[in-house]
Amino acid sequence: MARRIIWNGTTEEALALLHALRAHCECQVEDGRTIVPCGGHAMLVSDQRAIDGLLFMRRLAARLLTEEFDLTASRVTESVRV
Ligand SMILES: [Zn+2]
Repeated sequence: MARRIIWNGTTEEALALLHALRAHCECQVEDGRTIVPCGGHAMLVSDQRAIDGLLFMRRLAARLLTEEFDLTASRVTESVRV
């Protein structure tokens, strides 16, 4: 039975993840249908723990950069988005 995946992040974080997936997608598609999903897209539909872990690390990275380099939060958020 398939598990339901719940997004616990913001809309902005979801868009960042989707942009990253699009840039690195290796799905095998024929006639507009996905034949074999890539690892990233497979994760999106099946691995709640991995998705939550990505969110956690994204937020932790921003905090660590702020603390380590005494940057303002807005500058860090901009650099993490890239
Ligand atoms: Zn893909």
